[in-house]
Amino acid sequence: MTIKTANLGFPRIGRHRELKFALESYWSGKTDRAALLDVATRLRADNWRLQQQKGTDVIPSNDFSFYDHVLDTAVMVGAIPRAYGWKSGPVDLDTYFAMGRGSQGDSHANCGHSRHGDGVPALEMTKWFDTNYHYMVPEVSDGQDFTLTSQKPVDHFFEAKALGIATRPVILGPVTFLKLAKARPATFKPLDLLPKLLPIYEELLRRLSAARADWVQIDEPVAVLDLTEGERHAFSVAYKVLAKTVPNLKIMLATYFGGLADNLAAIADLPVAGLHVDLVRAPDQLDEALKVARKDLVLSLGVIDGRNIWRVDLSAIIDRLEPIAAARDIEVGPSCSLLHVPIDLELETGLDADLQSWLAFATQKLDELSILGRGLTQGKDAVRAELSAASKTTAARASSPKVNDPLVQGHIAGVNDAMKRRKSAFAERRAIQSEAIRLPPFPTTTIGSFPQTPEVRKARSDHAKGALSYMDYEAFLRKETEAAIRWQEEIGLDVLVHGEFERNDMVQYFGEQLSGFAFTQHAWVQSYGSRYVRPPIIFGDVSRPNPMTVRWWQYSQSLTDKPVKGMLTGPVTILNWSFVRDDIPRSETCRQIALAIRDEVVDLEKAGASMIQIDEAALREGLPLRHKDWKTYLDWAVECFRLCASGVADRTQIHTHMCYSEFNNIIGAIAAMDADVISIETSRSKMELLDAFRNYKYPNEIGPGVYDIHSPRVPEVKEMTDLLSLARQRLADDQLWVNPDCGLKTRKWEEVRPALVNMVAAARELRSTLAHDDQRIAGA
Ligand code: GLN
Ligand code: ZN
Repeated sequence: MTIKTANLGFPRIGRHRELKFALESYWSGKTDRAALLDVATRLRADNWRLQQQKGTDVIPSNDFSFYDHVLDTAVMVGAIPRAYGWKSGPVDLDTYFAMGRGSQGDSHANCGHSRHGDGVPALEMTKWFDTNYHYMVPEVSDGQDFTLTSQKPVDHFFEAKALGIATRPVILGPVTFLKLAKARPATFKPLDLLPKLLPIYEELLRRLSAARADWVQIDEPVAVLDLTEGERHAFSVAYKVLAKTVPNLKIMLATYFGGLADNLAAIADLPVAGLHVDLVRAPDQLDEALKVARKDLVLSLGVIDGRNIWRVDLSAIIDRLEPIAAARDIEVGPSCSLLHVPIDLELETGLDADLQSWLAFATQKLDELSILGRGLTQGKDAVRAELSAASKTTAARASSPKVNDPLVQGHIAGVNDAMKRRKSAFAERRAIQSEAIRLPPFPTTTIGSFPQTPEVRKARSDHAKGALSYMDYEAFLRKETEAAIRWQEEIGLDVLVHGEFERNDMVQYFGEQLSGFAFTQHAWVQSYGSRYVRPPIIFGDVSRPNPMTVRWWQYSQSLTDKPVKGMLTGPVTILNWSFVRDDIPRSETCRQIALAIRDEVVDLEKAGASMIQIDEAALREGLPLRHKDWKTYLDWAVECFRLCASGVADRTQIHTHMCYSEFNNIIGAIAAMDADVISIETSRSKMELLDAFRNYKYPNEIGPGVYDIHSPRVPEVKEMTDLLSLARQRLADDQLWVNPDCGLKTRKWEEVRPALVNMVAAARELRSTLAHDDQRIAGA
């Protein structure tokens, strides 16, 4: 029986973020196309050589992308909306980037008027399954014709071959491509286009075969989603065709991010040569897969976590795989592409030595794979030392006092139901709050952050480098904060914020002050395009040694008589934007964070805060891929929010904020959070999102965003009063707050100033109509 180690994809960004710098320099016109291509060629070569050197048997190619692999696929098959001006033939790099990030044309982006000139907006962007990677949503039209505009997978295969490295090209499968695509107009299902798309894939497979590729990896992650009969049927249609196209080119159908579950039988039945299953997310599907898989189907077993950064106990994995390897051909690999983990742990110099020994990034995962491969082919004795080292570190981690904090575990055990409930119901709290906090109708506020100007960022980095003393940095932040408070008073906002100038990031800022969190220097992961993030690593029980935000709140409140909101990031968001522990359930870590935030909420109240906002920007993002798992997730997510928000008296007003827009199917959970006020993103949807709140008869107060902060445009007063009228058609006047869609940290003051002045004017206009109504009533 043959046993091979196989990688599904390697991070494309470069150890030192070379791709980001090359792209941004190209975009700004500092370097030319040749320079960009050159960096890309070098990155690919480095990655292939690294995998070769690590002894990976099956090395992927075409996992590289300048921006996004879904966009690559759209471009490759000619799914290029008319607006981008492509007619036929090869698609040039600038058209590709226009689809990824929009093009400015000749207009000035910041002139404050709506787009004009030849600029084209980017395609829509959305999250890649439940990862923090974002892909460009392909658009297909009803008359869509597909054509093969490039043969990048073939080119890259040759490029590796020229280096003496045989690779397995990776392509995104046709069913996943169409299922992720958007129909324009929305009068048909993209999947209906499958018969038109398949010939393009056939042509590509023929070319790969002519190039003498013996295998191709076709990614079909949608196979782990809830599928309709029709969608399952699409798989069978597609792979009947593709498997026949070139019989000597074997297809490894890769599924990941979850178990195949009810799709397993149908997928395992496809006439492909290999099937990859994710055994990290769904370890239990192995038995079932073994049962249904044809004897000659090469099973690729995803046993190394492609989504997380922990070293594993390799010995246990070998024990599990040995009997399987004796009975059939297998590959062992990561659960999914390694795109979602940082590249190399060796770059980290500042981590705690124990923690460092518990981690494995992409490069280290290749080592783990190689040990697994050798252990399975040559027997455990051949890798005795490596296995015992791995077992030793996993055992050390499990029992480490750095991980286990009995105090935290005691607090968790002490959580009771009363701690998850505000003292009184909303109606009573509301009456008490409106006595305590005198606000006009349609109160105005903002979401928290003000522009992170170049000066703010420079001061922070100077301070981090030691070039700016603590005292000077503090003085600088105080000055910024004071100016922000003064300015908010001046323009007449009702509820003020301190501006978040002291924060680098809404999660990192808290993580750095909590126990159980670690931060890296170089562990970047692609979020989208040239944007990379360094997620915190939660390695141990979480607690809050000291108050985190009270000092800044106190300072800001001391400057004004208007209420200043305390500003916190919620437990679910902190969890969802971090690498989490794999030794306890996510819900458990979330509960620990919730208790820590709860302490902060209580301390803010003690300090005198009458309003505290707890942002849950990423609550919806955490939704499981399968519908049947939603309730469990939402139950504990909501419980954690309530746990952190319920330590205060009725008079204290709890706000929350959520960025995204799709509330319809989670509105019950949003209501169950029982925040006194929620602010949401609604301006671009013309308030249609409020329908969910209206239909649900959502009782608490809401600030539907009236100002789209994603655009440099300054909205006119009338646009905002129009939006507010739409909101008033859906919600009661006394429910409504007036605020922007989200925080303003990415905007410039030149944009924010006039926009908020207009926003305040819009609220005042509304109030004056109310006053008229009152007079009318009084006079009648
Ligand atoms: N308070 C945060 C801010 O204004 C909220 C941001 C968010 O939810 N993304 O920046
Ligand atoms: Zn937001």
